[in-house]
Amino acid sequence: MRPVGYRVRLVNNPRQIYRLRAPASGREALTVHEPGAVYTDRETGEELLPVTRTLPLAPSDSALLRAPENLRACRRCDQLIGLDVSDCPYCGLRQPALDGAS
Ligand SMILES: [Zn+2]
Repeated sequence: MRPVGYRVRLVNNPRQIYRLRAPASGREALTVHEPGAVYTDRETGEELLPVTRTLPLAPSDSALLRAPENLRACRRCDQLIGLDVSDCPYCGLRQPALDGAS
């Protein structure tokens, strides 16, 4: 009997997640935003408007913010930190800006 083997496939993150916000109440939701669709808050009935994209930006190899694809090493202390942080949470070093390509 042959041993069973399998390969772990990276989960693709092809669709961008947006943070939606209701202007009056400030209530928020995270979802994929389909062009032309209208999203409403189920509690208040207000229209939710997209205010920002969430990290990691799509398309990416993973939708998980702390996946290896979405981390970088601090130049001073070599700790792995998120691409989205501006200061290293371990040593406080200001991180260089990303070029936005990834
Ligand atoms: Zn550091």
